[in-house]
Amino acid sequence: MDIIRQQCHGVPFYACTDPAWAGAAHGFSTRLGGVSPAPMDSLNLGASRGDDPENLRENFIRFCAAVGTDADALVKNQQVHSTIIRPVTRADVMESPETPGTFEADGLITDEPGVCLTIFSGDCIPILLYDPVRRCAAAAHAGWRGAAAGIAARAVEAMRDLGCRPENILAAIGPGIGPCCFETHADVPAGLRASLGAEAEAFIRPLPKSGKFSVDLKGANARWLERTGLTREHIAVCPACTACNLDIFWSHRVQGGRRGSMAAMIQLL
Ligand SMILES: [Zn+2]
Repeated sequence: MDIIRQQCHGVPFYACTDPAWAGAAHGFSTRLGGVSPAPMDSLNLGASRGDDPENLRENFIRFCAAVGTDADALVKNQQVHSTIIRPVTRADVMESPETPGTFEADGLITDEPGVCLTIFSGDCIPILLYDPVRRCAAAAHAGWRGAAAGIAARAVEAMRDLGCRPENILAAIGPGIGPCCFETHADVPAGLRASLGAEAEAFIRPLPKSGKFSVDLKGANARWLERTGLTREHIAVCPACTACNLDIFWSHRVQGGRRGSMAAMIQLL
């Protein structure tokens, strides 16, 4: 399966077009198609970046209309680089799309149709999971700490607790920083090795000149999904790197705090 760039009503986004995904509206945003001024130009979906709430609201309405989700049914977290996957229902839906999340967690899970799981990223790896058989969806935000701690596996385990069979689960790993741009000190490889063991080596490349390392976070997250029983054919990985495509995405690594935030969403239809 592939993640394909699409466009609807002038708003580009990335999503899986495979018919197996048809029961779950979903998508990964870019920085394009919104109304916010620089440096959040233009589709900022982050509520804590100092953007005008009116802009934020309009951006959510545009993005949700493009991907087919309901802007009045968003559930958000306050992301803290944890491995907490929070089960949610309609009772957790935000008052309005621009309302910031306050519950500290980095993942969301639901089996209720009409609830739009929403996570945020700006280099970190966004992961969407969908079981078309049990009808269950999850979303997770995986920075390097989340990747090292295996938040992707925690999300699959949470789905399994709700009765999903891992072999039925489809995964979409969205745009995020690629190994081309993610240069780290030894702490990141050490974190991955501590949890993934020898399997981490495939995602770590030493850079002899600088003494640093190039790390493939998307690959490490995909490995966690396979370890929890997903089949390789069910894991779609978006090759787009946020840090080397600043015309399409924002990158925390390159731009620091002066930027907007992308979002990923999934909603059972
Ligand atoms: Zn790159």
